[in-house]
Amino acid sequence: MCRALPAGACRTRTFRLHWRLRQEVCASITAKSDQACARLLFLWYKSGSSLVPERHLRDARELSLNSDDILRLASLLRAARRTVVFTGAGMSTESGLPDFRSDGGLWKQSRRFEELASVEALTSDYPSFVEFYRFRIRMLHSVRPNTGHELLADWQRRGLVHTIITQNVDGLHEEAGSRDVLNLHGTLRRIRCQRCDSDMPASAFLEEQGTRCGRCGGPMRPKVVLFGEALDAQVLEAAMGAARQADLFLVLGSSLQVSPANALPRLAVEHAGASLAIVNREPTPLASLSSVELRAAIGPSLAALDRLLTRGLAEAPPAL
Ligand SMILES: [Zn+2]
Repeated sequence: MCRALPAGACRTRTFRLHWRLRQEVCASITAKSDQACARLLFLWYKSGSSLVPERHLRDARELSLNSDDILRLASLLRAARRTVVFTGAGMSTESGLPDFRSDGGLWKQSRRFEELASVEALTSDYPSFVEFYRFRIRMLHSVRPNTGHELLADWQRRGLVHTIITQNVDGLHEEAGSRDVLNLHGTLRRIRCQRCDSDMPASAFLEEQGTRCGRCGGPMRPKVVLFGEALDAQVLEAAMGAARQADLFLVLGSSLQVSPANALPRLAVEHAGASLAIVNREPTPLASLSSVELRAAIGPSLAALDRLLTRGLAEAPPAL
């Protein structure tokens, strides 16, 4: 009997649920899958339904199939002295922000992301540039940090995570409470003058006069790294320094396709001897270098890890 069962659970319903789990989640609901089972049982009893929603089955399937990897990753996190976390677009999409690169790279069905988020647009098509970034800055008003952001901030406070490097520009790590985040691609939360570099909060960009610098009249732009610009040398150097000192490099929600996203994990593994762990829905080119690869959503994976880290690894998973 699964230990996750609520007290007094109806044996008939329990049997039906376990039967469905065996059919739908995987052929072997074993002792390893208690995380998925507990969550599913809770949701099922709460709903009072005999049918388990498909999205919960999908989560349970991911977690149960990957539970060996989750246990291994929990052990790595426990043992590491310096864990460096690297986050990509997948981290933000779980908060509801679109990933313009993977969503066909289009905005308004006609303009490519690379075309608008560029020095070229800033200098030769400023109205479109402004419209695109006003849209993106406004979008930040409606999103909040997700479970993954919050757990990382908590792990940082508990000393389980030392450095967070991100490709995202939404500032959600800081909003969740993380400190000293290395924003490789800059931030959408502030704007600066292209001519004299004076800066201010991004909310000014949404106002009629906010696109012109109050000091010199130059065009204002978000403090993000545009296509055609180099990364901030200081931030990149700090990220490389962190990678060189890591003994665990944890990638969350990045396909590791673009530089330096693909270079930093290599630096950590090949020059520092770090273990590499990847949580990403899609396969990545660095899978062969990794000790753990979870093809799963970040929030449920980190929540499962957090339960393991909190209750202690010594406790054996319960048998069904
Ligand atoms: Zn200026």
